[in-house]
Amino acid sequence: MNQGTDIFANFHHAVNGSQEGIKMEITGTLVWYYFICKREVWLMGHQIYPDQESDYLEIGRFIDEHSYAREKKEILIGNIKIDRLWREGSQLVIGEVKKSSSYLESATYQLLYYLDTLRKMGIEARGELLFPEEKKREVVEWTEEGQKKLHQALQEIENLLLQPKPPAPVKKRVCHKCAYQEYCWAEE
Ligand code: SF4
Repeated sequence: MNQGTDIFANFHHAVNGSQEGIKMEITGTLVWYYFICKREVWLMGHQIYPDQESDYLEIGRFIDEHSYAREKKEILIGNIKIDRLWREGSQLVIGEVKKSSSYLESATYQLLYYLDTLRKMGIEARGELLFPEEKKREVVEWTEEGQKKLHQALQEIENLLLQPKPPAPVKKRVCHKCAYQEYCWAEE
């Protein structure tokens, strides 16, 4: 068992008994991580946050604060936080800003989650993924097929969060810039 798993086993024991007090709700961010790393979903879902000063998180904040400023209208609806919201004629458009298009599937399903949530409130919208550094946009439309895969992912996230421990870390390309890397790979 590696050091990272031990740390969180200890954490779990420390909060044992108050586990029900920890609020574990599914958010767009968790949907995004689900398609990248299931361990990260568990950690974030249990509110075990990485170093808030890490460079990686800082870059994300900087881009979020300094890009597309003219269109900036961040809004909170229920548990979803929408980066950008605007109208194109009669069409409502919601935008999600990302640092890069490397994790397109994750970003697509995060946005689809927002579109699906709005749809349940009777609001039909189109989505756009915004990649300011790449000067690029991707349109995301709600479809029944997309919704089916999204709901499957949401069900799996729910099951994952109910587990008493995080899944073991699995080495992947994203680990070297993940803010949890010290927890997961402390012994390397
Ligand atoms: S370091 Fe790797 S295994 Fe650990 S949470 Fe991050 S992406 Fe997942």
